[in-house]
Amino acid sequence: MTSDPRPNRTHILHRDPSRVLPVAVAGDGPFVIDSAGRRYLDASGGAAVSCLGHSEHRVIAAIKAQLDRLPYAHTSFFTSEPAEALADFLISRAPEGLEHVYFISGGSEANETALKLARQYFWEKGETGRRHFIARQQSYHGNTLGALSVGGNPARRAVYEPILLPVSHIPPCFDYRNRRADETSEEYGLRAANELETEILRLGPETVIAFIAETVGGATCGAITPAPGYFRRIREICDKYGVLLILDEVMCGMGRTGTLFACEQEGVSPDLLTCAKGLGAGYQPIGACLMSGEIYDAITQGSGTFQHGFTYIGHATACAGALAVQQVIEEDGLLRNCQAMGDALGAALRDRFGDHPHIGDIRGRGLFRAIELVEDRAAKRPFDLKLKLHAKIRAEAMAEGLMVYPGGGTIDGRSGDHVLMAPPYIITQAGVDMIATRLAAAVDRAVAAVMA
Ligand code: PMP
Repeated sequence: MTSDPRPNRTHILHRDPSRVLPVAVAGDGPFVIDSAGRRYLDASGGAAVSCLGHSEHRVIAAIKAQLDRLPYAHTSFFTSEPAEALADFLISRAPEGLEHVYFISGGSEANETALKLARQYFWEKGETGRRHFIARQQSYHGNTLGALSVGGNPARRAVYEPILLPVSHIPPCFDYRNRRADETSEEYGLRAANELETEILRLGPETVIAFIAETVGGATCGAITPAPGYFRRIREICDKYGVLLILDEVMCGMGRTGTLFACEQEGVSPDLLTCAKGLGAGYQPIGACLMSGEIYDAITQGSGTFQHGFTYIGHATACAGALAVQQVIEEDGLLRNCQAMGDALGAALRDRFGDHPHIGDIRGRGLFRAIELVEDRAAKRPFDLKLKLHAKIRAEAMAEGLMVYPGGGTIDGRSGDHVLMAPPYIITQAGVDMIATRLAAAVDRAVAAVMA
């Protein structure tokens, strides 16, 4: 893969130490360049992070300028201009009711913050018996213990299961896998949402803190869009029982699906909303947890202190970088490109894979798309998970000079391997065509290898 021998002798504990990774040394728009000079088209934005590609000079200049002025000042002593400006930017565009924000360094911290804000909200109100979270199977919310507890990916949870929080997991709203043939999408969305009510009643409404879900499902099952009306019914159920709604938009938010917040397209506002990846676009590590005025007031007018915090909350340079990212997206009209190129990518994938015997589903919204692989298309039967088809596709794609984010093969056989795509919002039609061509070659070689 690379002529640089050092990755074999690394001191770093990599996720999969048996793999020899190329060394990334430079960025050029949507391309990452390795130490051997190979160029990789970043069709996944890393893990749906790099929404402006890898060389946006306006963002780099804003970060440099902030570093020259003030890199960081601890929030026990100061607030900072970039943090206040980023908060104003986000809240003035946020779904109705979200009035305040808490800045942290990434997605897991954002969800950890949301879970704790939700619990403290009820504690402030004297409803201390509320101790349960409800989440969904086949979901991902992060790696810290609270976020992992609400996550519904059995492989990621397995090692830690005995030390996780008790959380109920209801089935996700997953049309391809879970809608019955005799149901319309709307009927299915209602049935899937009603699972939440059943679980709240089983636990006892007075014991439930919040329901957490990704607005559009990401890493664990690949660009799962909700059925029409699903989240409106979820909102109704939460309101009926006084349960908070947390939407995790760490992956699908910040424009990825064509609107700044994915829930805008569902017509709902959550009580807490988390975002991260596209917020800083990889130029800085940053996440955010947006909260309703009611939650903010309960804490600030109650005990007065949110019992939580990290050294790097509201990091001035990270906030300056994120503000510049968001300004570039807005000034360049990139959400429109996200919608247009998202449609183009959807069409290119349907064109390449619509009749493919081993592609069961092509799905997604905006520049957040996925294909799901199956051994038997009519029966929707996944490949044997032990074949690790998704990992083979990633390797073949890298050999083609294409970065895609494969997953699956971990979900108790309930869904198959998938390949997630989340290209930068600056992608062009030529880039979209390159993704489809290279991915088709990678899929065909990987499928041939597992079927040999
Ligand atoms: N939530 C979702 C939906 C995610 O996709 C991720 C990251 N893949 C996280 C939370 C965790 O974010 P981080 O890795 O930045 O902690």
